[in-house]
Amino acid sequence: MSKVLVIGAGGAGSVAVHKMATCPEVFSHITLASRRVAKCEAVAASVLARSGVRVDVAELDADDTAATIALIQAVKPALVVNLALPYQDLSIMDACLATGVNYLDTANYEPRDEAKFEYSWQWAYQDRFREAGLMALLGSGFDPGVTSVFATYTKKHLLDRIDTLDILDCNGGDNGLPFATNFNPEINIREVTAPSRHWENGTWVEGPALAHKQVFNFDQVGERNMYLMYHEELESLAKFYPEINRIRFWMTFGESYLRHLEVLGNIGMTSIEPVMFEGREIIPLQFLKAMLPEPSSLGPKTRGKTNIGTIATGEKDGKPRTVYVLNICDHEEAYAETGNQAVSYTTGVPAMIGAAMMLTGKWKGEGVFNMEQLDPDPFMEMMNNQGLPWEVRDLPEPLDF
Ligand code: NDP
Repeated sequence: MSKVLVIGAGGAGSVAVHKMATCPEVFSHITLASRRVAKCEAVAASVLARSGVRVDVAELDADDTAATIALIQAVKPALVVNLALPYQDLSIMDACLATGVNYLDTANYEPRDEAKFEYSWQWAYQDRFREAGLMALLGSGFDPGVTSVFATYTKKHLLDRIDTLDILDCNGGDNGLPFATNFNPEINIREVTAPSRHWENGTWVEGPALAHKQVFNFDQVGERNMYLMYHEELESLAKFYPEINRIRFWMTFGESYLRHLEVLGNIGMTSIEPVMFEGREIIPLQFLKAMLPEPSSLGPKTRGKTNIGTIATGEKDGKPRTVYVLNICDHEEAYAETGNQAVSYTTGVPAMIGAAMMLTGKWKGEGVFNMEQLDPDPFMEMMNNQGLPWEVRDLPEPLDF
């Protein structure tokens, strides 16, 4: 029985809180804090209506470490679950250290003025968390998150040696809008417009953004174009699995999304360089974000499924083997259960499961941890019971690209 403080009342935060409310034996008391308290109140009202559980709410600017410390001291949680934006990661980790509380997030730190995400800033907290006897769990979403758990499960149960790993992320959902991102638009566009990068033979191979395309037939979705991209878990997978020769990340995008992105990029709207507008500085991408639908508003509009998995090649008992571990999630079912579409659902549920692993002591440690370092079995067992069932398929052949 433990108190939890969730920061960030967007799509992922809403799902995590809805799911926590259904597990009172783990989450005895939930407080949800965010920049706008009205968003917390809306989530709390939905949770009360669906499960009869009361969620406390608070207004918080988590960039303000002192305010975050004060809230943690008032709430006294056993764990802070950070589902705000990557910009707040370090401030919230500092507040956890100052108050002696464990920490979890779903996205690695990224400075506002540079579209560059990497674990170095948060790995630098290793000694401080260890010396304080606290645990920080990084990247407990779907990707990063579950994809690394799938890789760890593959290594533990399915292959004696992994040679290659491909992560395939398909959102086959349609929200009927010409251009909307299914998670925070600013973070999404910064990620998608970055140069592609994958790990091959001990080094990073870079290429232009969205230049390398493959067609793949996703179960229950159909054929989609997927694009080689850089993604957070590539860094931790390369670090914790030096045996893997090649690690790649692929994500699907529709024609309309890419056409809009190209035009917006051409006219400078995706830039994070400040420009003067009517006497004040604005960041074009932040202005664009204000014009785009909030991910949490897409729930009632989105139909179709997500299909995210890992395909690994390697050897088992001396024989070559290719295994695909995947989850398929339905947007409308996710909405019916939590009021949010499947991209928020597939992020918020693993955040809740990671939190449950820490609060029940199934995952414990002192220091800063990535998902690859922890036992995949209890996490994957809980996925099956919490709306993200997964399956393992043997493929007759490795990918031919
Ligand atoms: P949203 O934009 O829907 O939600 C973010 C929430 O954080 C908003 O409610 C926002 O408040 C709040 N927030 C922003 N700044 C602050 C601040 N300074 N203090 C307190 N609250 C703040 O995004 P998502 O829910 O889609 O994503 C949440 C996180 O999950 C992001 O870090 C994202 O990168 C990550 N993510 C991870 C994935 C994974 O699989 N690992 C996949 C998708 C997302 P307001 O509404 O007032 O702006």
